[in-house]
Amino acid sequence: MSSVPVAVVTGSNKGIGFEIVRALCKRFPGDVYLTARDPGRGQEAVAKLQEEGLHPLFHQLDIDDPQSIRALRDFLKQKYGGLNVLVNNAAIAFKVNDQTPFAVQAEVTLKTNFFGTRNICTELLPIMKPYGKVVNVSSMASSSALGRCSQELQKKFRSDTITEEELVELMTKFVEDTKKNVHEKEGWPNTAYGVSKIGVTVLSRIQARMFNEKRKGDHILLNACCPGWVRTDMAGPKAPKSPEEGAETPVYLALLPSDADGPHGQFVSEKTVQTW
Ligand code: NAP
Repeated sequence: MSSVPVAVVTGSNKGIGFEIVRALCKRFPGDVYLTARDPGRGQEAVAKLQEEGLHPLFHQLDIDDPQSIRALRDFLKQKYGGLNVLVNNAAIAFKVNDQTPFAVQAEVTLKTNFFGTRNICTELLPIMKPYGKVVNVSSMASSSALGRCSQELQKKFRSDTITEEELVELMTKFVEDTKKNVHEKEGWPNTAYGVSKIGVTVLSRIQARMFNEKRKGDHILLNACCPGWVRTDMAGPKAPKSPEEGAETPVYLALLPSDADGPHGQFVSEKTVQTW
């Protein structure tokens, strides 16, 4: 078994994830895994970085596929005995003018952004090594969507005692409410992406609490963050930040020094803790 530290970035064949891998290849003292759901796109991205003299490794990972997640977990356990850095970056977003019915957009968006990210965490958080770092890439869209939830929902999402099961129930309810077209009456904002990212930010707060309760001595730091508005296929060419600039806050959180005791359980933007 290798004693080399290991970092994994989900959805890193392009966009911000690709730039996170590039930065980690330069600054993380260990093996860095570029992962992609499509091995062809993944290997192409690896080759691009190799041309620059960088040495990312590749592993297939589709966060929608439990089998693919378990294969990665087994590989990491067997080869490294665990994981030092996990960046949950993979996500999807429908374009604003997409004509897909809202209920379908809600189901598909929540499936990847919330449930896929949660499934990765369920399998990989238990194998995080002491002093490990977990970065869940959320979005400022989570804060703005939170502000547009009913008072009752806002209270639940800001609660310091909400459980993962309760969060899953709420995310499931959102999808169900969109199918019955009662989501607005039930206090939800009209944004599937925003709600999925509320899920990611709140999940991060819950997971950080879990580490405090169950593995206090392991000094693992887990945070949610926003990369900013970044020129990628997701956000389009008008966004102000380059993908490299978008990688800065996630990389800062992934490389927090081992003597840092925070940030932990926070929502971070521009390397600064935000009020949730
Ligand atoms: P992007 O260019 O569209 O890249 C998304 C990446 O996620 C791609 O590599 C994509 O792979 C991958 N992905 C999607 N579904 C996946 C799945 N089921 N399994 C594995 N990988 C999957 O988007 P981006 O702008 O870089 O976004 C990166 C992160 O930043 C996301 O979490 C996004 O929500 C967040 N964010 C972005 C912005 C922005 O302005 N760009 C703002 C706030 C937050 P394929 O190539 O196979 O599709």
